[in-house]
Amino acid sequence: MYQRSSPRGDSPVSIIGAGIAGAWQALLFAQAGHAVTLYERGDADMTLSTSHWAGGMLAPWCEAETSEPVIVRLGIRALDLWRAHFPQTEFNGSLVVAHPRDRADFERFAKLTTGHARLDAQALGELEPALQGRFRDALFYAGEGHVEPRRVLAELHARIAAAGGAVKFDGAAKAEDLDGIVIDCRGLAARDTQKELRGVKGEMIVIETSEVELARPVRLIHPRWPLYVIPRGDGKFMLGATSIEAEDTGVSVRSALELLGAAYAVHPAFAEARIVEFGAGLRPAYPDHLPRIAIAKDRIAVNGLYRHGFLLAPALAELTLGYVKRGAIDNEVMRCA
Ligand SMILES: Cc1cc2nc3c(=O)[nH]c(=O)nc-3n(C[C@H](O)[C@H](O)[C@H](O)COP(=O)(O)OP(=O)(O)OC[C@H]3O[C@@H](n4cnc5c(N)ncnc54)[C@H](O)[C@@H]3O)c2cc1C
Repeated sequence: MYQRSSPRGDSPVSIIGAGIAGAWQALLFAQAGHAVTLYERGDADMTLSTSHWAGGMLAPWCEAETSEPVIVRLGIRALDLWRAHFPQTEFNGSLVVAHPRDRADFERFAKLTTGHARLDAQALGELEPALQGRFRDALFYAGEGHVEPRRVLAELHARIAAAGGAVKFDGAAKAEDLDGIVIDCRGLAARDTQKELRGVKGEMIVIETSEVELARPVRLIHPRWPLYVIPRGDGKFMLGATSIEAEDTGVSVRSALELLGAAYAVHPAFAEARIVEFGAGLRPAYPDHLPRIAIAKDRIAVNGLYRHGFLLAPALAELTLGYVKRGAIDNEVMRCA
């Protein structure tokens, strides 16, 4: 971290894109006393955003399996911000389980991650009664949490308005038309100015049943993707997520079979669940899969949140605010022109 001269600390701030990245930026800037306007091209349902399709897991320790240490560092900081700003966020931890045939990958996952306790079958059944007798053991990441993305996005937008910010839906904004500080949080749509961005497709399914109850996300070790089942309340569960180098938003039969198969492997009663929704979002990613805050005077771009948008957005907003207020630079994440 070092200091650099920053734009005027009391300037009005325009944020383009009301997904999870832009919403957290808008909230922290509005609460810090800036006149904030958040622009979103779509409507309040946010179906044009990748954030709409996300699982909402806040899982820095599990993500360490495939991510750089900076993701874990920012993710752990972000958990504090979620707790401080949304005290109702569920922090019930998360579980990792495996079929006997994926034992080696399970042990590898355990070795590559920290922050977990190993539960035997009995302890697993005590923690999550629906999984009684289903797995030989499990990894329990007690410090992790999860949010319901669609609910939390709406809540963020309401909180921005309550803090004095304006949230404007149904109109695309252009940075060149806006005065003051402009923070570009357009996700994949920012490819017009950031050519390196690409979309990584993540498919998901929502199912509904009253036959299974889970209190926390359960990840099933899978040879290709980390598949998971996330309880969404009211008998709904989100099954996620594939990770495919494609930029269409269709859901393939093969992916659907794998996602539904994962749910069935976690608990056979999911076989009788009703399918509520299929969908896919495109995760905005740079080639190194790391988030970036690119600064050119009072033009700032926050992007590349890839598979960690819900986890990282609060910490990235705090860093941007720290730059505007004090000129603080985190050189793992920020690039200055
Ligand atoms: C299936 C799936 C599961 C996932 N699960 C998780 C998870 O469990 N945990 C986690 O942390 N992350 C998860 N992610 C990743 C996460 O969803 C993304 O990292 C995050 O949504 C990216 O957020 P964003 O705000 O950068 O982009 P977006 O959510 O796409 O938001 C960008 C917004 O900008 C708007 N916009 C674009 N151009 C303009 C314009 N000119 N004017 C106004 N508005 C504009 C768009 O309409 C959009 O609403 C998942 C992703 C997928 C697909």
